[in-house]
Amino acid sequence: MQSQFKKNKLLSEVSTLGIGGPAEYYVEVKTIQEMQAVLAYCCKENLKTFILGKGSNCLFDSRGLKRVCIHNKIDFMDEPEPGHFHVGAGYSFSLLGTQTAKKGYTGLEFASGIPASCGGAVFMNAGAQGMQTWTTLQYVDYVTPMGELKRLSKDELSFGYRVTAFHTMPGAIVGAYFVLENAEDARAKQLKLLDARISTQPYQDKSAGCVFKNPTATMPAGLLIDKSGLKGFQIGGAKVSEVHGNFLVNSKEATSEDFLALISHVQKVVKEKTGYDLHREVFWVSDDL
Ligand SMILES: Cc1cc2nc3c(=O)[nH]c(=O)nc-3n(C[C@H](O)[C@H](O)[C@H](O)COP(=O)(O)OP(=O)(O)OC[C@H]3O[C@@H](n4cnc5c(N)ncnc54)[C@H](O)[C@@H]3O)c2cc1C
Repeated sequence: MQSQFKKNKLLSEVSTLGIGGPAEYYVEVKTIQEMQAVLAYCCKENLKTFILGKGSNCLFDSRGLKRVCIHNKIDFMDEPEPGHFHVGAGYSFSLLGTQTAKKGYTGLEFASGIPASCGGAVFMNAGAQGMQTWTTLQYVDYVTPMGELKRLSKDELSFGYRVTAFHTMPGAIVGAYFVLENAEDARAKQLKLLDARISTQPYQDKSAGCVFKNPTATMPAGLLIDKSGLKGFQIGGAKVSEVHGNFLVNSKEATSEDFLALISHVQKVVKEKTGYDLHREVFWVSDDL
């Protein structure tokens, strides 16, 4: 099995931020059975793992990672009955949002434009504009660290704002099942949300989306960063976007050190100027943890 693992794959190549040193081992899995086999092998050999979706919410350590990075590419989408969508965890969440809206179903319009995998979106309970992934989620196919496949109902699992039970479950999400309602205006709503996203976010820049959680529903982190005069502030190659304060971008060969320094600086200044504590939404992925 280990002979199928690539050595020293640069994580900067698989993260939307374009930051990250080499993973000691890297393997792509395309089926649920492959995920079961790789996890069971790593468990038996006592190898540490990291499950990667589309790398759109990860800040990887520039010094690299002594783990097996398992890139989830389980990429299927079925509609077993009208409005019911069963997807592989590696399927594009953005595409799912567009396809379901085009078919006249509501519930995932906000997903269009989020560069996530469906597994990553379930893991994070990704959301936008008051909508979230877990509203229409029914169950999740999950592989335990020992390689056992389980079907978990949403009712058995806890979730909240950008947090789910999976944050403390070390296995892999391999599939998700959504049930959506009909709505005549679904496509129009999806296009409107996508348009708003493109016009307010620095889409052309390398980023991990919003770096901080909003302290409250009515107090967006981006506004606090803007009010604190931090737009455009830069440390090394890491910069607070001029377009959206909650997007910290890799403007020029930033390292994870630059990024962590910028995150700390933003947290400190926002606390001093507004009194709010900002908590990270982006995942810091490092052997130091
Ligand atoms: C331009 C841009 C816009 C964005 N807009 C939004 C937005 O509107 N709303 C929002 O919520 N987020 C947004 N994001 C952030 C990001 O897309 C989400 O957090 C998304 O859910 C991450 O999915 P991913 O597949 O990229 O996960 P990754 O970044 O690959 O992984 C993130 C975490 O999830 C875990 N994980 C991923 N897949 C699995 C799996 N199959 N099984 C177990 N664990 C897994 C990883 O181990 C890691 O801890 C944006 C990002 C960008 C770059």
